Amino acid sequence: MLWRVSNILRMKSLSLIGLLSVALMAAMLVSPSQTPSRAQQPAPGTPATASPTASPTPGGAAGSAASTFGTQGQQSGLNIVVLDPAHGGTDPGARGTGGIRESEIVLDFAVQVRRALELQGFQVVQTRQGNENPSFDDRSASANAQRGAVFVTLHISSTGLPGTARVYVNSDLPAVGNSSGFIPWDRAQAPFLGLSKAFGDLVQGFLAQRFKGSPDTAQSASVRQLRTTAAPAIAVEVSSVTVEDRANLDRMAPGVADAIARGAAAFKPSYVVPSTPGALP
Ligand SMILES: [Zn+2]
Repeated sequence: MLWRVSNILRMKSLSLIGLLSVALMAAMLVSPSQTPSRAQQPAPGTPATASPTASPTPGGAAGSAASTFGTQGQQSGLNIVVLDPAHGGTDPGARGTGGIRESEIVLDFAVQVRRALELQGFQVVQTRQGNENPSFDDRSASANAQRGAVFVTLHISSTGLPGTARVYVNSDLPAVGNSSGFIPWDRAQAPFLGLSKAFGDLVQGFLAQRFKGSPDTAQSASVRQLRTTAAPAIAVEVSSVTVEDRANLDRMAPGVADAIARGAAAFKPSYVVPSTPGALP
């Protein structure tokens, strides 16, 4: 179950201190001199950051990202994956008739995803280890505090064809200063949308190979958790909590873990961050 932004704007539970600290981190991380997108030199006729609303051919985004961003003499800065088992604590997420709780399943999935990522050489930071419920901002802050990280939030949906899995990236963010009250920290994802789409398409491609009926490319949505994340960020949503037997979901975990790990490894050459803060790579 993914929280859309429209749900969240009606909630007034975010603390001012949390907002300010995230605002500071987001401002530091997305300042023009440090954003990877600023350093990207697009090929002629290619936008610097691919629009997530565009519909590239399958595999096309990944290929162009690699050739556009993976220039010679630069080392990929990607070595950390921030893994977010969504929900937890008082928020069970989606619930199935068989007593299946999304918050518990994603934690079990995370164990396998973590192992697969570590086998690919990534350091993994988890936003929660047990049945806690960190705020959206706390979870984003776990990624925003890193250099050279990608962010993956794990969900189990209550909809969709059981046995399939989808990747979401944030949709285009609305302009600053509109009347709906968006504030700058809430746009931390904006400079990373193109990279998020490239990463998401890679993971979705591996998921589609494993889970028939899954889409070929990542989809766009206004996912609350991704908005405030200043890193390439995706949501992976597995269908669904409606299965009669939990084993049907458990069986998907190795394939989901493998797809995320292979996607991150394939994306790694595309993501170049400056070796010195403030310097272009
Ligand atoms: Zn969810």
